[in-house]
Amino acid sequence: MAGQGERPAARTGGSGDGVVIRWDSPVGTVAGKDAPKLVKAGIETVGDLIGTYPRNHVAKGSLSELDQLVEGDVLSLVGQVVSSRQFTYQDKRTRRTAYRLEVRVRAEEGSLLLTYFDKHEGTASWRLHTELPVGRVGVFSGRLRWFRDEWQLTNPASRLYADGDDAVDTMPDLIPIYSSIGGITTWQLEEAVELALTLVDRVPEVLPAEVREAEDLVGAAQAVRWVHRPDTWAQKTAAEKRLKHDEAFVAQAVLARRRLAVERTVANPRPGRPGGLLDAFDDRLPFALTAGQQRVGEEIADELGRGHPMQRLLQGEVGSGKTVVALRAMLQVVDSEGQAALLAPTEVLAQQHHRSVTAMLGDLAQGGLLGGADQATRVALLTGSSSAAARRSALADAAGGEAGIVIGTHALLEDRVQFADLGLVVVDEQHRFGVEQRAALGAKAGVPPHVLVMTATPIPRTVAMTVFGDLDTSVLAELPAGRGEVQTTVVPVKARASWLDRAWERVREEVAAGHQAYVVASRIDPGGGEEAATGDEPAAGEGEAPRVLFAVEELAPELAAGALAGLRLEVLHGRMLPEEKDRVMQAFSRGEVDVLVSTTVIEVGVDVPNSTVMVILDADRFGVSQLHQLRGRIGRGGHAGLCLLVTGADPVGPSMERLLAVAGTRDGFELSRIDMEQRREGNVLGTQQSGGRAGGFRLLSVLRDEQVIARARTAAFVHLRRDPSLSEAGNADLADAVRRLEDSAQADFLEKT
Ligand code: ADP
Ligand code: MG
Repeated sequence: MAGQGERPAARTGGSGDGVVIRWDSPVGTVAGKDAPKLVKAGIETVGDLIGTYPRNHVAKGSLSELDQLVEGDVLSLVGQVVSSRQFTYQDKRTRRTAYRLEVRVRAEEGSLLLTYFDKHEGTASWRLHTELPVGRVGVFSGRLRWFRDEWQLTNPASRLYADGDDAVDTMPDLIPIYSSIGGITTWQLEEAVELALTLVDRVPEVLPAEVREAEDLVGAAQAVRWVHRPDTWAQKTAAEKRLKHDEAFVAQAVLARRRLAVERTVANPRPGRPGGLLDAFDDRLPFALTAGQQRVGEEIADELGRGHPMQRLLQGEVGSGKTVVALRAMLQVVDSEGQAALLAPTEVLAQQHHRSVTAMLGDLAQGGLLGGADQATRVALLTGSSSAAARRSALADAAGGEAGIVIGTHALLEDRVQFADLGLVVVDEQHRFGVEQRAALGAKAGVPPHVLVMTATPIPRTVAMTVFGDLDTSVLAELPAGRGEVQTTVVPVKARASWLDRAWERVREEVAAGHQAYVVASRIDPGGGEEAATGDEPAAGEGEAPRVLFAVEELAPELAAGALAGLRLEVLHGRMLPEEKDRVMQAFSRGEVDVLVSTTVIEVGVDVPNSTVMVILDADRFGVSQLHQLRGRIGRGGHAGLCLLVTGADPVGPSMERLLAVAGTRDGFELSRIDMEQRREGNVLGTQQSGGRAGGFRLLSVLRDEQVIARARTAAFVHLRRDPSLSEAGNADLADAVRRLEDSAQADFLEKT
C-alpha cells in the first residue's frame, strides 16, 4: 500500500538470527524510534500495541455522518483534492508574511474545506501547498469547526496516496484511524500495528474454548486482525464482540479469584447472642426497621455467624438508612466478643457518625462509666485532628478491647492503631477507599475480619458487578416510611435574576416555620478554591462564557447583611480547622444555626432531619450523582423538602438537561446511570484516557454491555472454581492475562469509582 513506511527489519533482529517477536516482546521491536513515546503512554509490549485499537474506521468517500457531528468532533474522510489555494497574510505579531492553505476535498457524498494555518515560509502549510495539488487522493482527519457558514477541518492530519487514477482502488475499504499518542500520528501507529500483527508469533487465546463456543466468537488472532484491519463492517463487529468478551472475562476472572480466595479463608464466627447489646438496642430503637433493612439485616447476621469472612456491599438509595443496618451488624460482633471499626471518608462524617452512634446507643455506649448499662461498650473516635489526649485514650480503648466500636478516618489505618480483636470492618461511602485500604484494616486483625462496604449513592448493576465484583451485594431501595416529599426545581437565573430573590424568601419562610436550610456553593473563595470533594465536576461547555461563581466566603457575609439578615448563619468548608468544622456541624445539628452556607463537605452522609430547604448555587458545576447526594440531606424528618438548583447555564444545552434530569426523578439508580453516560465511563471508573488509550476497558462499556458482563461473570466463576490456580495447560494464556491485570495499575478500576 502506498504511504507505508519501510519495514524496520534490521531492528527486529535482522534476517537470519531467528529473533521471534512475541506478544510480550518490548514494543521497540516493532515501533523503532517511536517506542519511547509509546512506552511513556503505557504501551510497553507488542501486545499492548496490538491492544491499541483504532478510534474508528473511515470508509472511502462518505461524508454522510456530517449531520450527526458537532463542533469539536473528529472527522476522518477519504477524498480527492478538487481545489487548493494558498493565501498570504501579514502575521500581526511578527509582521512577517504567513501562509494559509485552503483545500477542498471531494468525497463520494459532498465535499469539505480543509484549512491549514501556518506562520511562516518553510513550515507545514507552505510545504503542503506543493504536496496537495488538485487530483491527489488522501485520508484527512481533524476536528470539525463551523466557520464562515460551513464545516471545516483545521490543520487536519493527512496522508496522501500515490499519484494516479487507480490510487482509490488500491486503498483498503476501511481505513483505521487511531488517536494520536504522544505526537505519533494515526498513520505511524497504523504502520507499527500492521508490523506487529504481521510479525507476532502468536496471539494469546485467553477465553476458554467452551466460552468461545457458547458465545459464538471468532478466534483471538482473527479478532485482533479484524479490529484493526477489517474488510467489512461485519468483520469489525465480530472482532469487537470477541474482544469485549475477553475484557469482561479477564476482569471477572480477577474478581472471581479474589472472591474464591476469601471463601477459602477462615474467619471467627460472630453469631451474636440473645439478650445482648443488639437486642437491647433493637428494644429502644425509636422506629420500626423497613422491610429492606430487615431482609438485609438477616443476610448480614447470618453471614457474620459463619466461619468465612463476609465480603458484602450494601448499596442503597440516599437516606435509606444504611447506618442503622451497619450499626446492628457492629453490635452483633460486639456481642460475640469482637470489635468493629467504622471507616469514614471525611472528618465531618466520622465525627457525625460518632455523635449519632453514641446518641442512638445511649447508655449502651457508656461501658465502664457510672450510669452505663450492664453490658455497655464504648465507642471511640480517632481522626487526624483528635487531640493528643483523646487519641491516647482512643488508642488504649481500641488496643485493650474496651471500645467495641472504633470510628475514624484514614487515621485508623495507621500502624500504631491496634485492636484487641477486630471482627468487622465497615467502610462507609466506599468511593474514597480502595481495596488496599480495606486490606490495611483487615491486617490489624489476627484472623481476617468480616467486611461491609457501603456506597454513597446507588450504582447500576453492571457497575457494581465490575467495580465491586468480588463482593456480594445487598440493596436497600426503599426509604423509611413517613419521609417528606422533596420537590426539586431548577432556577435559571440567567432568565430571571429576580427568581433568586424568591429562593431566599423560601429559605426565610422555612426558617420561620422552625426548619433549617443549606446553601451550597462550589467555591470557597472567589479567587478559586473549588472544593475538590469528588473532583468530578463537569467541564464547562465549550463556547460558554466564563461566569463569576458563587463562593462561600463572599456569599455568607452578603446574605447575612442582605437577603437573609437576622437569621443565624454559619459557614462550613474543607479549609476550616477540623475542630471548627465539628463545632459548626454540632451547632447545626442542635438547631442553633438556621442556615449553613457550605461547600460539598456536606455532600455525603450528613444527617440533620430538621433541614427542609437546600439552595444549590451554580448547580451546573456539580455532577448528577453529587446533586442527588446533596439533595438527600433534606426531607429526612418527615417534612416536605425543597431543593432549588440555581444555575446561570444556557436554558438549552447539556448542563440544563442534566439539572432537569435531577429535578425529574428521585431514583438514584436512574440518575447514576445518566451521570455515567454524561461523564463518560472512563472517568467514573477512574481510568482517564491516557494518550488515547483507556487504562481499563478498551471496548467494553459497563453501561451498554450488561449482557456480556453478566455472562462473563457466571462463566468466569464456573471456570475458576474448576481451576482456581489457573494451572491447567489450556489456561496458560488466561493466567498470564489475569496476572497482568492484577499487577497493573488498571486493577484499580476494579475497586474505585
Ligand atoms: P443513608 O442510607 O443515606 O446513609 P442514614 O443511615 O443516614 O441514610 O439514615 C437516614 C435517616 O433515616 C437517619 O436519621 C436514620 O436515623 C433514619 N432512619 C433509618 N432507618 C429508619 C427507619 N426504619 N424508620 C425511620 N427512620 C429511619
Ligand atoms: Mg450514610
